[in-house]
Amino acid sequence: MCSMTELVERLRRGEALSKPELVALIEGDDETGEELRALAEKIRIENYGHDIYVRGLIEFSNYCSQNCRYCGIRAGNTDCMRYRLSFDDIMHCCAEGYELGFRTFVLQGGEDPYFTDERMCAIITAIREKYQDCAITLSLGEKPRESYQRFFDSGADRYLLRHETANPEHYAKLHPVRQTLENRVRCLYNLRDIGYQVGCGFMVGSPFQTSENLAEDLLFIRELNPQMIGIGPFIPHAQTEFRDFPPGSLRLTLRMLSILRIMLPRVLLPATTALATIDSRGREKGILAGANVVMPNLSPVSVRKKYQLYDNKVCTGEESAQCRFCLEQRINSIGCRIVTDRGDSKNR
Ligand code: SAM
Repeated sequence: MCSMTELVERLRRGEALSKPELVALIEGDDETGEELRALAEKIRIENYGHDIYVRGLIEFSNYCSQNCRYCGIRAGNTDCMRYRLSFDDIMHCCAEGYELGFRTFVLQGGEDPYFTDERMCAIITAIREKYQDCAITLSLGEKPRESYQRFFDSGADRYLLRHETANPEHYAKLHPVRQTLENRVRCLYNLRDIGYQVGCGFMVGSPFQTSENLAEDLLFIRELNPQMIGIGPFIPHAQTEFRDFPPGSLRLTLRMLSILRIMLPRVLLPATTALATIDSRGREKGILAGANVVMPNLSPVSVRKKYQLYDNKVCTGEESAQCRFCLEQRINSIGCRIVTDRGDSKNR
């Protein structure tokens, strides 16, 4: 096997590293970690300058018919206080977000049967008509291809669907039997086929995850070649069976961000709220490791604490304007700036 520096260099050249080579990079020491970070930061600047894109996240429902074992809003959690936003609530979030300079709205929710295709299409059409200069991103989980097509035809541009893990056995440990990796992957390819800008992703440090699994995630992502990749640490939720598992580490999450930035130089890579939850400067560290997107919350403060995927989630008490201001200061503190832009992916 080559030296770590040679492996980093081959990754930079766009070579396809083997699974054992990727494992070596993932498990490498802190010196290699810094080498990866510095290169990832350089590549981020070469492709996106010092611009950081913001997305206004609207968590519009925490009802969910799925039962992902790690997730606080899983159907089986009977202690979860459920809510859903109305059409008017959602439009109000967009209006507030537009004022604050957001040009992408992300509609995220559990798989809530109340939001039929008709209801979703009505929301998407209304946002599209009112905010023609904005991108609409959906994150609604697994749907039939026809539903994805209807949402696209109504004006949605992007879809986030984390694959969660590219290893079927690992997938089966995180989900009940009726949820399969096969269907998750089919959904991602359907979305891409329809013409969406697609985002996949995974949790770092999820229960039972190995370095080999993470290498498989990298190989899967290289093959899919998505426009966005959402990764963040797993954080346990007290009302799930994984309550006693340790959270994913900051160190490994940052390393995975850097590897992804080097592997797909033009991809959009968010510094996630979960990263900010495990470290008070997590978002800033994520950007310095290669991330170039932040997704602050636009949901009404009254419901934020109820969208609790994991424990101790940050930024659940502040108004959208406060969040926007706080984020701006954090991003300026590391020599970057938030831009008012749709922020489309350059990875086509
Ligand atoms: N229902 C949609 C879906 O499945 O894609 C969107 C909402 S889902 C809650 C969004 C993401 O939250 C999941 O893809 C998962 O990776 C992440 N998530 C859930 N539980 C988590 C936990 N305990 N720690 C960290 N991230 C978590």
